[in-house]
Amino acid sequence: MAEYIEKEAILERLDGLLPKMEMDPDGLHPVSLETVIRYIKNWPAADVAPVVHGEWKLIERENVWGDMTKVFECTACNKSDVDGKGITRKSLHCPNCGARMRVDEEEKLESHSKEDGE
Ligand SMILES: [Zn+2]
Repeated sequence: MAEYIEKEAILERLDGLLPKMEMDPDGLHPVSLETVIRYIKNWPAADVAPVVHGEWKLIERENVWGDMTKVFECTACNKSDVDGKGITRKSLHCPNCGARMRVDEEEKLESHSKEDGE
């Protein structure tokens, strides 16, 4: 299983070590690559989950009245409804599985201007 570290935390810790180290005549800190690798290996893994990506796929399905209707289906979980209602609007995250949805720039601008009431 992949492990992740917090970039800011380890950089801050490594920066904190610099003043404690002796400099060589050129003003550089002689640290071996092995020391840095050992330090990173001993750093605790961050508590993170991998990001799942999906896309909205326009599909047609039958609604409760037997009519064909167009809805969006998440390619990550294959669900096209929330609480029994078909998904008719693309969002940046799937409301069912939380996948981050790929929405092209034109669609982002379109939904943004709609939210702004333009
Ligand atoms: Zn989903």
